[in-house]
Amino acid sequence: MCGIIGYIGKEDAVPIIVDGLKKLEYRGYDSAGIAVLGYNGFDVVKQKGRLAILEERLASRLLENKPLSGRLGIGHTRWATHGEPSDINSHPHVGSKNKIAVVHNGIIENYKQLKERLEHSEHGVSFASQTDSEVIAQLAEHYYSGDIIDAVIKVSNAVEGSYALGIMCIDEPDTLVAVKKDNPLIIGVSDHGNFIASDVPAVLKHTNKVYYLNDKEIAVLKEGKVQFFNMDKEPLKKKIETITWSMDSAEKGGYPHFMLKEIMEQPRVLRDTIQSVFNDGKNKNVLDSVNISGYNKIVITACGSAFNAGVTAKYVFEKLCRISVDVELASEFRYKDAIIDNKTLVILVSQSGETADTIAAMREAKSKRAATLSIVNVVGSTIAKETDYCLFTAAGPEIAVATTKAFSAQLVLLYILAVRFALKTGKLTHKEEEAQLAEIASLPDKVKMLFEQIDAIQKYASTCVGYKSIFFIGRNIDYAIALEGSLKLKEISYIHSEAYAGGELKHGTISLVEENTLVVALSNCERLYGKIMSNAQQVISRGAKVLFIGNCPRDDTESEKLYYINLPKAAELFSPSLSVIVLQLFSYYVAANKGLDIDKPRNLAKSVTVE
Ligand code: GLU
Repeated sequence: MCGIIGYIGKEDAVPIIVDGLKKLEYRGYDSAGIAVLGYNGFDVVKQKGRLAILEERLASRLLENKPLSGRLGIGHTRWATHGEPSDINSHPHVGSKNKIAVVHNGIIENYKQLKERLEHSEHGVSFASQTDSEVIAQLAEHYYSGDIIDAVIKVSNAVEGSYALGIMCIDEPDTLVAVKKDNPLIIGVSDHGNFIASDVPAVLKHTNKVYYLNDKEIAVLKEGKVQFFNMDKEPLKKKIETITWSMDSAEKGGYPHFMLKEIMEQPRVLRDTIQSVFNDGKNKNVLDSVNISGYNKIVITACGSAFNAGVTAKYVFEKLCRISVDVELASEFRYKDAIIDNKTLVILVSQSGETADTIAAMREAKSKRAATLSIVNVVGSTIAKETDYCLFTAAGPEIAVATTKAFSAQLVLLYILAVRFALKTGKLTHKEEEAQLAEIASLPDKVKMLFEQIDAIQKYASTCVGYKSIFFIGRNIDYAIALEGSLKLKEISYIHSEAYAGGELKHGTISLVEENTLVVALSNCERLYGKIMSNAQQVISRGAKVLFIGNCPRDDTESEKLYYINLPKAAELFSPSLSVIVLQLFSYYVAANKGLDIDKPRNLAKSVTVE
């Protein structure tokens, strides 16, 4: 997490960096800071709290006639890992000789040893902060002897852990240096100057031409030039990429929150993602080339919502392909010594393609010679580059921390993958495959139809702000999507919530049900309608209220305790794509009615690049 950005060029770096940080704030918002290198050395403004506070500080500097300004600068928005969120722990960190300034995304695992060594060295370096990151600035100063590239190589060789770094040196005021290992970093190139950034949206306003930095590659940026080196200081040739994401996709476009905008984008995102598999291009080639009949086991591994997409997909794969699928949390998979081999296909799902646990799971799978297929949203990301096969979701930049459109896009790719595998393994005929694909292709329009019920969902959600706990139940694939509904609600509304398989209620959870507990029941499996409705009645008779979401024909009449939201009819296996829209809107409006900071929920950050 943490967002870093840097600029060197003809224009004032400060507004460019502030604007870029706004696009990166989803990565962390414990503190924000900027350092510029001017005639009088470093000028640093940084403090605890949101970027908005930093902007106020910059505005008051302007009023005092001491504006922060310079043509070379670095900025940071923090998700603290080492050291509390505080002014002093905010980045950028400047070494005690005031020679080198650094922004860091990642964790330096051996920082204590390095710090002790520097403190006890002949010059007795004194540290100002409690962060692991400061050790990079201090170490770089310690190694610096006239060439910042040499110092950066030495720092990279000395530190263990993960890092994406932006580095400025007072003796080399025409140079911005960047290096990375296990955390993302892109280099943007524009007419007026060059950039480093954790993610593409931060530079989109200025350029769509970027280089993706690989691990242990060094980028050296000057006003009109970018060079790359390896750790032996040999020059590297890198390919420049053109980004297809538009600027608008990183703006709110009139919506009060990115989350609502991203929910509303889903018909288009689903359509684009589905089409990407059928029109000529990368996704189609990948789908055509995976030889599923070579595998006897599928493992899906991911974190958070992407894991829930995996749980949902398990039902689809098992039903259509008759192959057993394990779904594993990436943070567990990486350490469990999984029973996989070259006959296993490991599917990794990650919006950013940089999720640290999922990267580790991918490397674990590769070390055991399993084939790896990823579903990611960000071209050029580590997972996209390192997996054997990669399918891209066409979600565009997702800014709200709680995922919506990327999740939906992951789901449809997983459905299509399952259908294709079923065809290739002879479990579906061509005609049946076509029928399944037609069902999937009808989802975008059905999502649009669902939007007609937004007012009803909003109205119901406005009555739910007072709950301490909300339960989600479903059976079969409805249970899988209930997991995502529950996660979404707790992420952004801070209401405790759990998802249970309907049949499990009586084995414990029902003891938590009391007068006016809210239970959200999902019902899209027609054959199980009676079962889930019985579960709903069981909790209603113990005083609960039920919000019943589904497309099954029903005979129970609405009452003060039972409220229905009807979904358009969809094939059972693909119905989660409709249920999830209601669940996202429900969570959104509960949080909005509580007046919460929906796009940046407490303690969370997107693109979890730390373990
Ligand atoms: N470890 C650094 C800190 O706590 C950076 C954290 C991160 O990248 O998430 O300041």
